[in-house]
Amino acid sequence: MQISKIEGVYIPSFYDVIYNEDNTVKEVVPNKEDIPKRPHKRIIRDMENVPSPEKLIVPYIETVHNRVVLELFRGCTRGCRFCQAGMIYRPIREKSIERLTELVDKLIKNTGYDEISLSSLSTSDYSKLTELTDYLVNKYTDKNIGISLPSLRLDNFSMEIAEKIQQVRKSGLTFAPEAGTQRLRDVINKGVSEQDLKSATKKAFEMGWNSVKLYFMIGLPTETYDDLDGIANLAYNVIDIYRDVHDGKLKRSFSVTVSTSTFVPKPFTPFQWHPQDRSEEVVNKQKHLIKKLKNKDIKYNYHDSQTSLMEAVISRGDRRIGKVIYDAFKLCAKFDGWSEYFNLDTWKEAMAKNNLSIDFYAHRQRSYEEVFPWDHIDVGVTKKFLIRENEKAKENGVTVDCRHKCSACGISAHNMTKGLCK
Ligand code: SF4
Repeated sequence: MQISKIEGVYIPSFYDVIYNEDNTVKEVVPNKEDIPKRPHKRIIRDMENVPSPEKLIVPYIETVHNRVVLELFRGCTRGCRFCQAGMIYRPIREKSIERLTELVDKLIKNTGYDEISLSSLSTSDYSKLTELTDYLVNKYTDKNIGISLPSLRLDNFSMEIAEKIQQVRKSGLTFAPEAGTQRLRDVINKGVSEQDLKSATKKAFEMGWNSVKLYFMIGLPTETYDDLDGIANLAYNVIDIYRDVHDGKLKRSFSVTVSTSTFVPKPFTPFQWHPQDRSEEVVNKQKHLIKKLKNKDIKYNYHDSQTSLMEAVISRGDRRIGKVIYDAFKLCAKFDGWSEYFNLDTWKEAMAKNNLSIDFYAHRQRSYEEVFPWDHIDVGVTKKFLIRENEKAKENGVTVDCRHKCSACGISAHNMTKGLCK
């Protein structure tokens, strides 16, 4: 009971979920006195002075993050409508360059790692990125310590920064247009254009890159097969751009990798009301792209539709799905992230055991009147804002980066984040 009094702490057993006959949630009500009706997220207001690890355990074995991971800032203001992190980690809170250089020097000294990863939700948006990469390149290039950046935004791909960071190690180049046409990129509010992709890849090929990875999603709201053809067109455009840069020739090492993941509707996003495509439709769309991208210079990777299906069930699941996860585990489901271990029948058995339907969770359009199992959690961004954004998406309408113009998502009005929006 004492813990429940700490701001930001949520104890599910102190809240009862009441269901309607149609299995939707009627309401979620506290079953104890003196606990918040809507517990809200807790955030770090002062990213500058919050204690950050300076001494890390360095394992003997190879690990996923075998490098120094330097978090530049928290939050993102781009407003992509499928992105949960972009909504729930608002507002933006940057660390100063002084704090970051002090931290990275200690981390490199204490770990001996030979790579620094500049991490955040949108690293190329860090306001002092040029100064920071200058500092790191000048200080660490001679020591053979490299810098890596996660996928770069196309609209502010900086040639200068790319040139600098490739001095030690030429890491692969990854861009995430997410959708194949401008119409659909506006629907998801990605804020990048075909021209951005063309100029970014042209710059990269002129600088000596011979391969590029392009990330997309399929099954997005309002998507048509024209949008899928748009993905193929972008990939072929990239080949043409490379030919232009290299007098019509394609070097042996040249390649374009196209990766598509399947759209999973996420809570607290403008797209939380949308269903996921049925697996057969996802497979048809993947087959369509396999045909369209049949080319020796293009590699096409796509996510297994069955794992994406269970992601959609769990993503918008209610408490009853907790029991499904437990029962699936008891039925030997584990390491499901790896498709060779994943078995949909096990999950179907666990769903049936709990009298629940995959369709209900994954493929059902939700109405604005429906109560979501997460509506009693307050993340600062309001449902009103999410509905507004979803309605705008239906009109292919865009919302600009809120560093330039506030779109009143609710964060600046909330007690826990008041005064943090710049
Ligand atoms: S209140 Fe405005 S400025 Fe602040 S995060 Fe929301 S949209 Fe951005």
